[in-house]
Order: sequence, then structure tokens, then C-alpha cells
Amino acid sequence: MPTTQFDKESIKQSIIGKLQRYNGRTVQEASEQQIYKAVASTVRDQIMQKFTIARDERKNNKSKRLYYLSVEYLMGRSMYCNMLNLVSTDEYRQALKELGINLDDILKEEPEPGLGNGGLGRLAACFLDSLASLDLPAMGCTIRYEYGLFRQKIVDGQQVELPDSWLENGNVWEMPVMEDACEVHFGGHVDISEEDGKQKFIHRDYYTVEAVPYDMPIVGYNTSTVNTLRTWSARSKKRIDLSSFGQGKYAQASEEIELAEVISKVLYPEDNHYEGKMLRLKQHYFFTSATLQYIIKDFKKLHGANWALFPDKVCIHINDTHPGLAIPELMRLLMDEEGLGWDEAADICQKTFAYTNHTIMAEALEKWPEAMVRQQLPRIFMILEELNRRLCKDLWDAFPGEWERIGQMAIISYGQVHMANLCIAMSHSVNGVSQLHGDILKEETFHDYNLVSPEKFSAITNGITHRRWLMSCNPKLTSLICDTIGTDWIREPEQLSALTPYAEDKAFREKFAKIKQENKQRLVKLVKNRQNIDVDPTFVFDVQSKRLHEYKRQMLNALHILVLYNRIVSDDSFTMEPRAFFFGAKASPGYYRAKQIIRFINGLARLIDNHPRARKFLKVVFLENYDVSTAEVLIPASEISEQLSTASKEASGTGNMKFMMNGAVTIGTMDGANV
Ligand SMILES: *Cc1c(COP(=O)(O)O)cnc(C)c1O
Repeated sequence: MPTTQFDKESIKQSIIGKLQRYNGRTVQEASEQQIYKAVASTVRDQIMQKFTIARDERKNNKSKRLYYLSVEYLMGRSMYCNMLNLVSTDEYRQALKELGINLDDILKEEPEPGLGNGGLGRLAACFLDSLASLDLPAMGCTIRYEYGLFRQKIVDGQQVELPDSWLENGNVWEMPVMEDACEVHFGGHVDISEEDGKQKFIHRDYYTVEAVPYDMPIVGYNTSTVNTLRTWSARSKKRIDLSSFGQGKYAQASEEIELAEVISKVLYPEDNHYEGKMLRLKQHYFFTSATLQYIIKDFKKLHGANWALFPDKVCIHINDTHPGLAIPELMRLLMDEEGLGWDEAADICQKTFAYTNHTIMAEALEKWPEAMVRQQLPRIFMILEELNRRLCKDLWDAFPGEWERIGQMAIISYGQVHMANLCIAMSHSVNGVSQLHGDILKEETFHDYNLVSPEKFSAITNGITHRRWLMSCNPKLTSLICDTIGTDWIREPEQLSALTPYAEDKAFREKFAKIKQENKQRLVKLVKNRQNIDVDPTFVFDVQSKRLHEYKRQMLNALHILVLYNRIVSDDSFTMEPRAFFFGAKASPGYYRAKQIIRFINGLARLIDNHPRARKFLKVVFLENYDVSTAEVLIPASEISEQLSTASKEASGTGNMKFMMNGAVTIGTMDGANV
């Protein structure tokens, strides 16, 4: 394989050529945004060369592929991690230097795709990086939200939400794949007829939304694998019809287009919380139906209609219950479109689906009103009813007469569709995201399911990619580690344990401390530039950054700071190691108490700043707009990591791991992956 003709010289020529052809500018005349695009599309060209080879290989090998379905992917910026995974950072840095361009300035021009709320979406993104780096064929599937998670401003100490129009300047990394566009149907009714003694189900009077996929390549670290993140965009089938323009009906024509396209307009901003809004149900069905149609099409292309082979070639992973409608959708496609019988279709589903549970919090358990599902997805609802009927029959045999218990375990009961029960009943694997969380699922949340199918349950602790959360965000610490123990840990991060003896090594510790100090300076600069706040880099940096939630207990941290403040102001002899507390957190716009906690933290910051003795020992910074890019500067600068969740509530946490990986000391409760 020709590894690359992307050496320093050809990278330079590519950038110069692109600026010339697309912008009619020289490097000196071009804006930073134009240079960003020229560099990014050079990186993309390099990826595409691998991608073509990888795609041909998949066609020949016909190996099994994982489809990871998630309503959120919190990817962060791509350019630097792509260079890193191509093992080309030195070439790009050098090429740009010779063109008089500073790479770090250009990286900031990339808008961050914030297609996720917090941990669940970031986990999906980390998994994609790891799958490609482990040479495992996988496709991530999600919604191409036109507006990702809101941008947060702090005005007079309070959160203000601004729209995140991340696609405004185009997206270098994605390509539309028109040949895989398909239709998704909503509403209408189902006619049942008989043909050759078999029931036929015909969906009529539905309305159609077109699903258009955009693919983003996912490169593995120093591997030949290039996987894909496929994002589905909703389009109206109706094009503006010029005759209705002539009849003065253009407003009506555009309204119908708007209605269809609103499906992929915006990400719901709630983390660990679910709301039974109809638009959200439509979003879920929209992207799972489009994905399943594609999976079937691709399977048939590679293997024909050999359905028995399906579970050996396809694995569908459901990231929390949001994509759970993929289950009845696969049943529908196999039966109504491909002519399989119920038992065969149900067996394929069981063998194909795997489900990860992310939380035990009651307000996050997804349930849909029966009437809403019946009205919007009539055929899917019929399938859910039949799945439920058969499930309840089996449960009756296991628990005769125990209506209460069966109602708790049913797919449909008390007027609602219970997505978690659907996912557990129809998957072969159900995992919790840490040992503690897995145990709680078995012993409490899904206790009765564990009695009937104990073999399904397991605990698989979440993880993070050290390529983004160490190598990319902390290059200095990365060099120190390589100088100390070599580079094996890059392929096998377990090898980081070889650092253990250096905990007591004076020279190593001095180098480590120096790097921490430089990373603190980098954060101090960011805070000054963004929010015009001065922070003394000699203070201990104590950080709590994650979504704002009562269970995560930012309030507990804030109250501790208030206690310290009270001690300082009431006792002139009190002294302490000066400490700067950083908070980074978005609150869901409708979560009143979370927003009041942000207000409280900002009030505390002002209280301290206004007290001449308190500000010698304490500083509070509320960092605006916490996102992946902010985390990449904040975490390497941290010395204390606050992981204070009410024990049992944080199923795993992944922020905790990022801080540890960057050498912060954890203050935490025995919860999730902290354990
Ligand atoms: C890792 C990450 C999270 C998850 O943090 P937790 O502490 O596990 O809740 C949330 N948001 C961003 C931007 C992250 O990078």
C-alpha cells in the first residue's frame, strides 16, 4: 500500500493550489478560515486515499460490521486528531511553518460539531476512534442536526442560550451520499389483506420525509481502517412546485417543506432527562428507519437474501434506548419488505441487537404514550403490540398470576410504550457502563429481567480515547511519557502502568510539574482572551466540569467554597494554599434549579473578588460554553478533579478518566467508574 504521498512538499503544494483554485488567493492574502479549509481538505484527500482502499477491502472480505446507533455524537474538532491518526502531525506542522502559518491558530477556525449533550454522546465519539484504531469495521449512525447543543453565554451571572449554527461555513469532513437516500413514512393507516394464505400489511396515506445521509470518515491511529460516521438529514420530498407559485400558494408549499425538514433541525438539550415530545419520537424513528433500510440494502448487496447469515454479518448496538425503534423497524423490514415469517424475524433481531443502559434515573427512562406511537407509526405500533403479546405470554409462564410484575416488565402497559423493556427483551446483550451500575441494573432496576434472562446482563466500564484526551490535548505530557517509557503505550494504553515507578522519581516529577504549569498558563490565556478574567497560575487549579445537574452536585462544591470564604473573612489568622476553582457546565434551558446554581456560582465569584483578603486565597471562574474544545484546554491544566455525584447516580462518568489521564488528583464519591 502506498502509505502516503503526503509528505511536507506535497502538503505545501496542495494548500497553495487549493487557495488558488477555490479562493483565488495566495497564502499571504487568504483569511484564516480559507487556510483552515485548504488544510482540512488536504487532510481529507489523504484520508480518502485510504478510504477507497478500505472500502474495496470490505467488499472483498465481507467481514462483520457494527452499526453503532446513537442520537448523539459529541465529536469535537476533527482536524488535529485526523492528522494525529494519520501519523502526519510533524509533516503538516512543518509544511505550514514554511508557509508562514501557525497550525494552532488554524485549528481554532474549525467549528465544533456539538451533536451531543454530554457523556453519552462523547462516549459514542470515543468509541468510533477506538473501533477504527483497533481495525474493527463499524459505522456510527445519527441525526445531522442543523443546530447542535446551544452555545452558552453568561450575562449578569446567568446562562443565556444562543443557537449553534455549526454548518454556517460548510463542513469540510462530510460528503452527501445521494444513492443511499431513502424515504421514511409517518402517520396514515395500515390495511390488512390476505395473499396466498399470508397476511399482508399495507401502509397507506402516510406522509413522507426523505432521509439524506452525509458521511464523515473516521481514521484509525496508524491503521488502514477508515470507518464512517453517517448523519441523516431530513428533507421534504416535495420540491417547491412552480405551478403553486403561479397560483399564489407558495407559502403553503414552503410550509410543508418546513414541516418535514424540522425533524433534523435541532438537538434536544436535555442530559439524563427524557421528555415525551412528538418531534423527538419522529427524530428517533427517522434516523433508525433510514439506518435500518441502509443496513438491509448493504447486506443484500454483499450476501444476497441469505437472512440466516444476517447476525453473523451485522451487529446493531443501541446507545441507550433512544434508537430502540430500530428493533420493530428491523422486524417490519424483514417481514413486510423481505417476506420473512415472525419467528424467523424475531430470532434475527435477538441475535443482532445489543443494548447499553446509561442511567438508572427514573426521569431518564424513555416511555412513549401509546396513542402517539399508534398515530405517528401505525405499523410499528402493531409490531410492538404483537411483541408485547408474546412477551407477556412467556412472562405469564415464568410468573403465573403476577400481573403487577408482568406489567412492570411489559413493552406496552399502563398506556405507555416502555423502551427499556423493549430493548432488554429483544437484545442478546444488556450492559451497564461500570461494575457498580451493572450490579444495580441486575439487583434493582431490571431485577425481574435478570431472573428470567441472567445470561444477557453484563457490566462493561466506559472508556475514553487516549489519542484525543492525552496525545492531542496534552502534547507535552505525551512527549515526557514517550521519553520515559517509550511508545508502546500508544498502541496499548495498558502499558502506561510502566510509569508507576516514576511516581517517586524526582527528575520525572519536576518535568511533570513544569508541564502542568505550562498547561495552566495556556488555560489562563484562554480565560483572559475569552472572558477577560485574570487568574493567578500559581494557585492550585481545582476543576469541576460536566453538565449541570443536581445529582452531580456542583452545589456541594460551591458550598464548600463558601465555607472557605467564611473562614477567611471571619478569622484573620486563617490561611490556606491558594486555590482557583473552575466550573464548566451547561444547564438544560428548561432546568430552572440548574440555572440558579450557575447564578449562585457566579455570585460567589463576585463575592470573593470583592473581598481583599478572600481573593488572595480563592478564585472562582465559571468558564463559558463548556464543550469538547474547552475541555481539551481545561483538563490538562487541572490539578484537582471534582467527581462528587450522589453515589449510585453517575452510572460511569468519563470526565473522571480524562482528568486522571492528565495527572489530576481525584476528589470523588464511590460512584460509577470512580470506584
Ligand atoms: C467527557 C465530557 C463530558 C462527560 O463528563 P462527565 O464528568 O462524565 O459527566 C461532558 N461534556 C464534555 C464536553 C465532555 O468532554
